[in-house]
Amino acid sequence: AIAASRSYTVTLLPGDGIGPEVISVAKNALQLVASQEGVDFKFKEMPMGGAALDLTGVPLPEETLSAAKDSDAVLLGAIGGYKWDNNEKHLKPETGLLQIRAGLKVFANLRPATVLPQLVDASTLKKEVADGVDLMVVRELTGGIYFGKPRGFGTNENGEEIGFNTEVYATYEIDRIARVAFETARKRRGKLCSVDKANVLEASMLWRKRVTELASEYPDVELSHMYVDNAAMQLIRNPKQFDTIVTNNIFGDILSDEASMITGSIGMLASASLGESGPGLFEPIHGSAPDIAGQDKANPLATVLSAAMLLKYGLGEEKAAQRIEAAVLDTLDRGYRTGDIYSAGLKLVGCKEMGEEVLKSIECKV
Ligand code: ATP
Ligand code: MG
Repeated sequence: AIAASRSYTVTLLPGDGIGPEVISVAKNALQLVASQEGVDFKFKEMPMGGAALDLTGVPLPEETLSAAKDSDAVLLGAIGGYKWDNNEKHLKPETGLLQIRAGLKVFANLRPATVLPQLVDASTLKKEVADGVDLMVVRELTGGIYFGKPRGFGTNENGEEIGFNTEVYATYEIDRIARVAFETARKRRGKLCSVDKANVLEASMLWRKRVTELASEYPDVELSHMYVDNAAMQLIRNPKQFDTIVTNNIFGDILSDEASMITGSIGMLASASLGESGPGLFEPIHGSAPDIAGQDKANPLATVLSAAMLLKYGLGEEKAAQRIEAAVLDTLDRGYRTGDIYSAGLKLVGCKEMGEEVLKSIECKV
């Protein structure tokens, strides 16, 4: 074995439902590429979500948050399930998710939407439109209308009930998300599209001004701007025009879900949430899938690809990340499919076997 020169602590939060099944696969993949790259991982597994509720009475115990904060990166499975949907204390497992995002101060949410050639038929779009799509939505996660004040309920001058929210962005919030987006575009194909509503909203006007000013620091990145209504349309009409998209919290919420439907395979989609410094949070975009939990049916690839994002965006271990991505493609090329992405003539496998095939692919691609 090669002497480990780089050493990282990774907190694993398996969570609920299929979470533990998919995390176990991703952990094995991380361990194997680590040994190939001379990297040393220390894994710390902590309870979160419903599992933590049962154990400690809260969805995010203090020990879990502090372990996450003290580590170099956090890999999360999934949270929630029928069991906790109506618990008397109204403590929802999902609350833990909001708490850990806030605790780690992750303001940038990265969601790739890639149509793999092997899975092009899963796309909701026509093959010629979907084929070759490879884009990334960078969403601002901790500001904007979801958090802006004033907010609440009240009455208008006619005595009628109103509800109101406020879209607020400060320069520092725009600058830091824009920087993540420019850096992300730089690691990809060097194209960044900033999506806003600068023809109507002041918060968007400031957004566009700051992003435009920052562009001078990233001469290697080609910047464009698009209004959100047009962007929603272009994502369906011609998604291949996009490389990296950066946008605010609410627009990003909507556009990232729209983009995920282009791929059509929820079991394949990864995400990263990054802060200024400190560990990033990496997780598949799917939920805990209680309908298939414990049956060895889950597709572990979304979590395996989240582990690749952890290596690339969380630790800067690009080579190890590429090994994992290549192994996922190789496994699909060799015909292995979990039920969610299965089509006739291919090899139907469960979560564990899919994991073993990924490990084989990692091994033979040294
Ligand atoms: P959330 O918990 O985020 O609200 P949800 O309950 O809307 O999510 P999921 O838990 O993601 O949705 O599941 C939606 C559907 O997709 C379910 O039928 C589930 O079985 C399926 N599914 C989700 N993730 C996977 C996976 N990794 N492999 C196979 N099927 C999956
Ligand atoms: Mg769910």
